[in-house]
Amino acid sequence: MLYLSTNRKSDPVSFSEALLRGQAPDRGLYMPVTIPEFSRATMADFVNLSYDEIAFRVATLYMEDELPAQELRRITRESYDFNIPLERVTDRKYIMRLDQGPTASFKDFAARMMGRLMQYYLDQSNGRLLILTATSGDTGSAVANAFYGLDNIQVVVLFPRSEVTERQRRQMTTLGKNVHILALDSKFDDCQTLVKKAFADQELVHLKLSSANSINIGRLIPQIVYYFYAWSRLARTDVHENIIFSVPSGNFGDMMGGVLALKMGLPVKKFVIATNENDEFPMYLNSGIYRKIEPSRNCISSAMNVGHPSNLARLVSLYGGLMDEQGKITVEADMEAMRKDLFSVSIDDTKTRETIQKSYRENGVLLEPHGAVGWAGLHEYLDHVPGISKDQLCVSIETAHPAKFPGEIQKLLELEPAVPPSLEGLDHKTEFYSNLGLDYREFKAYLLDQFG
Ligand SMILES: *Cc1c(COP(=O)(O)O)cnc(C)c1O
Repeated sequence: MLYLSTNRKSDPVSFSEALLRGQAPDRGLYMPVTIPEFSRATMADFVNLSYDEIAFRVATLYMEDELPAQELRRITRESYDFNIPLERVTDRKYIMRLDQGPTASFKDFAARMMGRLMQYYLDQSNGRLLILTATSGDTGSAVANAFYGLDNIQVVVLFPRSEVTERQRRQMTTLGKNVHILALDSKFDDCQTLVKKAFADQELVHLKLSSANSINIGRLIPQIVYYFYAWSRLARTDVHENIIFSVPSGNFGDMMGGVLALKMGLPVKKFVIATNENDEFPMYLNSGIYRKIEPSRNCISSAMNVGHPSNLARLVSLYGGLMDEQGKITVEADMEAMRKDLFSVSIDDTKTRETIQKSYRENGVLLEPHGAVGWAGLHEYLDHVPGISKDQLCVSIETAHPAKFPGEIQKLLELEPAVPPSLEGLDHKTEFYSNLGLDYREFKAYLLDQFG
C-alpha cells in the first residue's frame, strides 16, 4: 500500500514513511492511494470478533506489507484493553462512549496504536523522533500518555492556556520525563500554525520532527475501527443493515475515520457532521464555497474550536477535489456525492447546554459538551428528513468523559460527574510546563536549544 500527498506534489511513500514523517514535504496530508474494501461476508463476521481483533483486520489492509502480522496483532491487543460502552437512549438510538481509555477521550484510540507503531519502526532502525503536537485539550494528554517514558521519542505539546480545563491541563503537565509542555496565550489554531511552520522549516530537519496531530495517517487508521465495531454490535449484520452516525467534529480526524469506513464498505446511511459555532464546514457543504473562520469562535465544546479543519483536505481529495493547506480549493470536489454521504449542522452553545440538560433529565444520559453537540446534531438531522423510521439504527459518538468538563456540568445539572480511575489523583501532582509567546522565532529557538 502506498500513500500520496493531498497536494499531489511529493512522491508516494510507504506506510512507515508516512507515519514517521507526519506531513508530506509539499505540506499536504498522506492518503492511501486506493481505499481497500471488506466483503459483506467478512464484515458480517465482525460480530464474532473482539474490538482489538477488528482493529487488527482493519489495520492489516493498510500496513500488512510492512509489519509482521504477529507484531500488528500484539500492538492492537496492547492498545485496546478498555471498554467501549454502547448506551441505548431511546428506540434504536445509542451513544457510543469512547472515553474509557487512560486519558478519557477518544484520542486514546489513535494515540495508543500510533505510539506503538512508531516505536516499532524506530526500534527497527535505531531511529529517534521529536513529536510536535498542538492540542485543543485532549490530543496532548492522549499523545503524552501514549509516548510517556519511551527513550527514542521526545514529545512537545503546545496548548492554548485558556481553552483547556484544569483537569485537561494536569493530565499533560504532571507527567514530565520525555514529555515537554508549552502553554500559549492564544488559540488552538495559533498553536497549530507554529507547529506547521516548524515542520516546513529546513533548519529543523535534523531534529527529526514528526506530528501526532490528526494530520498523521497513523492517527486516522485506528479511528476507522470503532465505526465497524458499533455496527457489528448493534446492526442486523446478516442483512447488511444500514446505520446513521453522528460525529462531533473539530479537526475532522474522527469523521475522516468514519468516511474511510464507509468507503471500505460499511453500510452507512448518513454521517451527521456536527460542529459547534465554527460552522465553516456546514456552510461549505451547503454552498460549495469554503471560508475558514479566523479567529476561531470560542465555544464550550472547546476541543472543536477549529476555524479550519486540517483533515478537510483529505475529505476533499476523497471526493475528487484538491484543497491546499491554506484551505484554497483548486479542484472542486464532487459536492453532490459528498452531500449524499454527509449531512452537516452547526450547534450553538445555547443548544449544547439545553441538550446536556434535556438528555440528563429525560433520558438519564450524562453528556459533556462535545457529545452533546453530536447528539443535538443527530436530532437536527432526524427532524430535517421526513419519514425516517423509528427503527432506524443511529449511533452518536461521545468523545470525552463528562468528568473532564466538571465546571459546565456542575452549572447545568448541579452535580459533580463521577471521576473515572484514569482521572483520579491529578490534583495533587506537581505540574511541569513552560510558557511560550506567539513568535515563531521564539519557538524555533526553544526547539534548537532543548533538542538541537
Ligand atoms: C478532538 C476532540 C473532538 C474533535 O475531533 P476531531 O477529530 O478533531 O474532529 C471532539 N471531542 C473531543 C472531546 C475531542 O477531544
